[in-house]
Amino acid sequence: MQPSAHPSQPEAFRLWREAQDTQVRTRLGGVFYLLAWLLLWGFAGAPGQLLLAGILLSLLFAGLWLLRLLHRLPDAHDQASLRHWLDSHWRLIFATALAWGLTHAAALQLAVFADSRLIATLSTVAFSTAMAFNFAMRKRRAIIAMTLLYLPGLLVLWLNRAEQLASLVTLACYLGYLLLALSRSHREYHTTLDLELQLLEQQARLQQLSHSDSLTQLGNRHLFNNRFPQLLEQARRHQRPLSLVLLDLDFFKQVNDRHGHLTGDACLQCFADCLRRHFRRDNDLLLRLGGEEFAVLLPDTPLEQAVSQAEQLRQYLSSEGLQVHGQPLALTTSIGVGGYDPQQDADAEAFFRRVDQALYAAKHNGRNCLARA
Ligand code: GH3
Ligand code: MG
Ligand code: MG
Repeated sequence: MQPSAHPSQPEAFRLWREAQDTQVRTRLGGVFYLLAWLLLWGFAGAPGQLLLAGILLSLLFAGLWLLRLLHRLPDAHDQASLRHWLDSHWRLIFATALAWGLTHAAALQLAVFADSRLIATLSTVAFSTAMAFNFAMRKRRAIIAMTLLYLPGLLVLWLNRAEQLASLVTLACYLGYLLLALSRSHREYHTTLDLELQLLEQQARLQQLSHSDSLTQLGNRHLFNNRFPQLLEQARRHQRPLSLVLLDLDFFKQVNDRHGHLTGDACLQCFADCLRRHFRRDNDLLLRLGGEEFAVLLPDTPLEQAVSQAEQLRQYLSSEGLQVHGQPLALTTSIGVGGYDPQQDADAEAFFRRVDQALYAAKHNGRNCLARA
């Protein structure tokens, strides 16, 4: 299989998707805090008087934005790394929200901002709205960030409630609406994520079905046609051995004729189990190519080792036969084995043909034997 770009475990996939979304959404958001501050400062009564504070706050918002940009997702997709990344990224979001909340409070309190404080209030409304809709993946954290944005300003309005009651009530009502909107966005985000996960699981199951043989659960011809050229290419590129074993059960038609087709089927399943017991490495690819013909692809396995493994299987089958439905059943197999040789095999087809000819020779030599390509 191709290595996939995202984690396959559902929990890790959830975190990975959340981290991706968080990164994309904060990347855009950070610049607006800087912009809002520049407007607030620039349109204040006497921006020249605020030179030091102006520069310091510009540096602060620019720095926080830069930190968000530089805080890149980890290469590792394990849950611990993703959780750690999300926690640190949320700390950056909280820091920005608090810095803006305090800026808004100062704008409401200090007379120098009388001309531009509307900019600060509108920005607070905009930032908390964005928070409710864009960062709903974590409800509790979004509420904390919205509180950090809102609370300092609300406190100042409360302290000056004699003159600012209308603004205080309006902002508080809007905050209530945002909390409701946040709950809804949170549900929608996770419903969409659930759907995406279901879709991926179904896709994986379908791929698994389309690649496996329903009778024996080995890989099927379709998988063989896919993987064989890929494995051959890898072997060629890395100059690693690749062996191919082809097996054809002997006189299988007679098994069906004598014991019936159902027993024939059970016999094929038992033979598949026998293959699994003899070729146990994770990388060994076991396949039923069709009918009573099987193949084993052995990456990183030199010809001699493949011959020895296949010969052990042949001898075992020849002496023990199979236990089908608890009854012993005599069965033998003919085998062709080959090692990929870039000098001889121009492509996968040529390699296969060579091993298939060996299998044919084994049949020709009286069956129940192994021939090398
Ligand atoms: P040989 O030693 O030359 O390979 O003889 P053979 O009888 O094994 O070969 P042949 O190609 O003449 O027959 C293959 C038989 O395999 C015929 C068919 O009935 C049987 N067969 C193919 N697929 C299945 C299957 O899915 N289930 C069962 N029960 N039998 C199958
Ligand atoms: Mg056959
Ligand atoms: Mg046969």
